Amino acid sequence: MRDYYATLGVSRNATPDEVKKAYRRLARELHPDVNPDEESQEKFKEVTQAYEVLSDPKKREMYDLGADPFGSAMGGGGGGFGAGFPFSDIMDTLFGTASARGPRSRARRGRNATLRVELDLSETAFGTTRELTIDTATVCGACTGSGSAAGSHPDTCEMCHGRGEIQQVQRSFLGQVMTSRPCPQCGGYGSVIRNPCPECAGDGRVRSQRTIKVKIPAGVEHGTHIQLAGEGEVGPGGGPAGDLFLEIVETPHAIFEREGDDLHCTVQIPMSAAALGTSITIETLDGAEEVDIRPGTQAGQVIPLYGRGAHHLNASGRGDLMIHVNVETPTRLDPAQEELLRELARLRGEERPPGKFAPGQQGFFSRLKDAFHS
Ligand SMILES: [Zn+2]
Ligand SMILES: [Zn+2]
Repeated sequence: MRDYYATLGVSRNATPDEVKKAYRRLARELHPDVNPDEESQEKFKEVTQAYEVLSDPKKREMYDLGADPFGSAMGGGGGGFGAGFPFSDIMDTLFGTASARGPRSRARRGRNATLRVELDLSETAFGTTRELTIDTATVCGACTGSGSAAGSHPDTCEMCHGRGEIQQVQRSFLGQVMTSRPCPQCGGYGSVIRNPCPECAGDGRVRSQRTIKVKIPAGVEHGTHIQLAGEGEVGPGGGPAGDLFLEIVETPHAIFEREGDDLHCTVQIPMSAAALGTSITIETLDGAEEVDIRPGTQAGQVIPLYGRGAHHLNASGRGDLMIHVNVETPTRLDPAQEELLRELARLRGEERPPGKFAPGQQGFFSRLKDAFHS
């Protein structure tokens, strides 16, 4: 006698539910549609037979007492298999969950939309509020997204009777196997719109323009994306809207160049001012600012103004403003100026300076470091 408990892989005191679960799992694995090879088909028969015995309280009781209800049928090499088979029960078990899907909804989530927003440096550095006109799909007001003309409703599909799928019976070694596929008449919706809304032609949405007020946070920069949940395209059939993404486009500034949250600019000072020291006024994002030029300032030196850069995004504090110094060599000297400069050169012993190399190659970033540590 075959051990039906071992065939299903359950214990002798398994509950009916455990038996059913074990069978369902094995039947899915071994079903001829999935595994058409001979070995699997043979196994499938055994498993199905074990299930028929163990799922029927009377047959299970008999089996536990030592009688195999399939004993004689299987003795003949499987030829008698299938007689009196509780077919609908097995099909329910196999496809019970599959046919529970039902018709699919017409409503689907809408697509995301992207909008480029041009901002100047002070807007990105400090944040701003913008009114944006966007053109997206919105819910059709005439049918409130249903797609049916006012006063009408979608009709239940005649082909699938509202189930959204068609069940097909195919012959197999077991007799019949039921499969299901989306209904071709209604596209799986279970209903047909016979009277489409004239405004949206049954789509449930129309294109329209609207204006929204958007707060742009301080510290965004070129290429930053801001996600506005639910402000994108509304989905068909009254489905939820996708998201709107704002792509920040920062227009180049005439003076300041941005690097992260730091700003860089270059000032020109006359040679005499660089040597003697002075103070200059420069226009920052925060307004006019006095900047001290120390005596002996070199060309290429960087003067930092801490906290005068762009705001950090989603954090407190600001970047810095880096002032790169350019020393202007005077040109077009008049005779008196030239005489003065020659006199200076004589006093400093610089009439014929040697060709002296500057120590090392000081690049942009090492100069920045010097500026921080000076
Ligand atoms: Zn409509
Ligand atoms: Zn249908």
